[in-house]
Amino acid sequence: MVSRVIPVDPFDLVIFGGTGDLARRKILPGLFRRFTAGQMPGDARVIGAARSELDDDGFRKMISDAISEFIPKDERDPKDVKAFLEHLHYVAIDARGTDGWNALGKLMRKDVVHAFYFSVSPNLFGDLAERLHEHKIIGADCRIVVEKPFGRDLASARSLNDTLAKHFNEDQIYRIDHYLGKETVQNLMAVRFGNILFEPLWNAQYIDHVQITVAETVGVGGRGEYYDKSGAMRDMVQNHLMQLLCLTAMEPPAKFDPDAVRDEKLKVIRALDPVPHDDIVRGQYGGADGQPSYKEDAENSSSTTESFIAMKIHIANWRWNGTPFYLRTGKRMRNQVSEIAVRFKEPPHSIFDEDAGTNANELTIRLQPNEGMDLRVTIKEPGPGGMRLIEVPLDMTFADALEQNGSDVPDAYERLIMDVIRGNQTLFMRGDEVEAAWAWTDPLIESWKERGDKPKPYDPGTAGPEDALMLLHRDGRRWREIKP
Ligand code: NAD
Repeated sequence: MVSRVIPVDPFDLVIFGGTGDLARRKILPGLFRRFTAGQMPGDARVIGAARSELDDDGFRKMISDAISEFIPKDERDPKDVKAFLEHLHYVAIDARGTDGWNALGKLMRKDVVHAFYFSVSPNLFGDLAERLHEHKIIGADCRIVVEKPFGRDLASARSLNDTLAKHFNEDQIYRIDHYLGKETVQNLMAVRFGNILFEPLWNAQYIDHVQITVAETVGVGGRGEYYDKSGAMRDMVQNHLMQLLCLTAMEPPAKFDPDAVRDEKLKVIRALDPVPHDDIVRGQYGGADGQPSYKEDAENSSSTTESFIAMKIHIANWRWNGTPFYLRTGKRMRNQVSEIAVRFKEPPHSIFDEDAGTNANELTIRLQPNEGMDLRVTIKEPGPGGMRLIEVPLDMTFADALEQNGSDVPDAYERLIMDVIRGNQTLFMRGDEVEAAWAWTDPLIESWKERGDKPKPYDPGTAGPEDALMLLHRDGRRWREIKP
């Protein structure tokens, strides 16, 4: 099977912050990959806009270097790179100044899709929106893309939403959470709603609990100053883990349509119970083997910011009554793992001898490494010796399965940028979703601040503090192993 790549409509995509880290590492290499896949139409234009005094050639050189750095050699034919660079333009612009805006206005063509990627600090969103409006560069059909962090609490998220709402309707605003662009995350919806097998079992009657893990091996070095004001709750739970939880727990939407999906996600967030103090474990990594501790990385010797958090969450609705969702995420952990594991209950009655053992099914959706899914089923252990039950995985690693089909799996940013051009908001967060997530997060952060709670230390290269293990042990459960 050859993959079906349908070119998107012609577009002018302006990347504010086009010389920044995100643009060089993700956005432009991603566009290059869509170009080589045949998805970027011949007359598409990508316009870098940032403060650096560059011209088109200077910008093309910078992006050529970025492609060499971030795209493997065997995936970049010099002829393709040269052809891609011809689509690039550059305008030097200051979001808070007047220079460059007329030039940008003149560059924009009529009758093509207009998209503006705000890959700059959120405190510039208002200025950019205002300048675009003043210079009559934006119309009712254009789209804007905004990056995380979308606020640091409910008040600041509301204020950002209000700022954007002055010049854009909600259906023009694309709030990126790149987790939603991952193949596996979308596959979670395909598996749940495209098969008859799972949905009848997808509830508290048959599911014992769900574990969502996002473990990273890196520390916060390099962005310690920013991270120290944020912490794992704001940086990961409020957005990425919350989105994964919503997609796992939501009711089937009536249609795979942006508002139908986002309405269901919003209902999950609004059904979250407040989390008691005892159901949250915050941790902070120490130093080892010459590697700096969190406090050293953050250059803050008295920091009480968490680089790890684990929590037990209850969703107060009919479907999930009594089935906990355990979430954990942290830095400097044993391995890099992002996964959702759905642990089913054991069969209600065993027909086998006690020595045969019992097993429960488990469906794991792996976001990384090796995007894929794994369903553990119980079978008889082969060979003589009577009936002994063992668990075996039915494993589907997408890279293997899809390579056989000749498909080309775009990375999250590539897919999401193409969705912006196509005008499909399904995989983007709506303003009310973001606000609801903050409304749930804020009191938890407030409560540990009020109590003067200090994070528990943990050794780097582990699965986090001991207390996080206890969070499940005391319920008679165990975290899935984070393999070395
Ligand atoms: P960066 O500091 O590397 O780049 C910032 C860009 O903004 C530069 O191109 C700079 O010229 C431009 N800029 C700064 N002030 C400006 C002004 N007054 N007018 C016009 N342009 C101006 O930042 P980054 O890492 O690329 O991040 C950009 C945004 O994306 C931030 O909001 C960040 O939080 C978010 N983000 C970044 C990453 C990442 O991996 N880098 C990941 C997720 C979200």
